[in-house]
Amino acid sequence: MSEFGGQVLVVTSGKGGVGKTTSSANIGAALSMLGKKVLLLDTDLGLRNLDIILGIENRIVFDIVDVVCGICDIEQALIEDKRFDGLFLMPASQTSNKDVLSEKQIKELILKLKERFDYIIIDCPAGIEQGFKNAVVAADKAIIVVTPDKTSIRDADRIIGLLEQNNLSDYVLLINRLRPDMIKKDYMLNIDEIIDILGIDLIGVVPEDEMIIVSANKNEPVVLNKKSKSGIAYKNVAERLTGNIVPLMEFEKKGIFKFFKKN
Ligand code: ADP
Ligand code: MG
Repeated sequence: MSEFGGQVLVVTSGKGGVGKTTSSANIGAALSMLGKKVLLLDTDLGLRNLDIILGIENRIVFDIVDVVCGICDIEQALIEDKRFDGLFLMPASQTSNKDVLSEKQIKELILKLKERFDYIIIDCPAGIEQGFKNAVVAADKAIIVVTPDKTSIRDADRIIGLLEQNNLSDYVLLINRLRPDMIKKDYMLNIDEIIDILGIDLIGVVPEDEMIIVSANKNEPVVLNKKSKSGIAYKNVAERLTGNIVPLMEFEKKGIFKFFKKN
C-alpha cells in the first residue's frame, strides 16, 4: 500500500458480456490469496451480480447507495467472503434509478476506502453513461477486457478513447475466452493481432473454460479450482498486478513476451 492508500482498478470493456464481472471476482479473489486486502465494488446499479458469483447475495443488508446517502456506515455495507481472507464486497443497490450516485460522491467514498484496502476493484457497468463515469472517476488503472472477436476489439478501442477523456491513461488489456483451437484454424484473431490493433500492454489471457460456468453456478470463483486453466490465468493476472513477472501459460504463448512490461 502506498502512503496514499491502495490501488483502485476498474474492470471495463466496450462490449457487454465479455467477462468483466467474472474477471473482477476472480482477480479480487486471487489478490486476496496473495495476502492482499481487497474490496470488490459493484457500481452496476440495478444489475448487481458480483454478489452472486461470490455466493453472498443472501448476506446483503446495506449497499453502496446506503453508504453514500449516510443511511449506514462503511463497515455495515462490507461483506467479507468467508472463503478468502481479506476479500470484501460492497454491493450495488438494486435501485432502478441508475443516476442516484454522482462522480463526486463516488470519489469521496473511494478516498475513504483506499485507506483500508490494498486493492479496490470496481466492476464497471456496461455502457458509457453515468455508471461508466462513476466507475472510472477514482480509478488509478483500468483493466480492459476483450474477447477475441472484432466487435469486442472495436468497442474496446472506443473505451480507450473514453478513458483518456476521463483522464485515465494507465490501462492494460485482458483477453478472455481465448480458444486456441479456433486460432489454429484461423477462425479467431490471435493474441498478437489483438495487441497490434489496440496497441496496449497485456496483463493476461484467460481461456474459454467451462469451469467458469460451473463455478458461477456453484457460486465459487474459479481460482478456487487449482486445476482449471482459467483459474491459473487469473492468478497470474493477480501476480502481474502486484509487480511480479510471470511468464504466459503454454496456450497464451507465441511471441508476445516482448509486449510485457513490469507494472
Ligand atoms: P460481463 O460482466 O462483462 O457482462 P460476465 O462476467 O457476466 O460478463 O460473463 C458473461 C458470461 O460469460 C457469463 O455467463 C460467464 O460465466 C461467461 N464467461 C466469462 N468468461 C468465460 C470464460 N473464460 N469461459 C467460459 N465462459 C465465460
Ligand atoms: Mg457484469
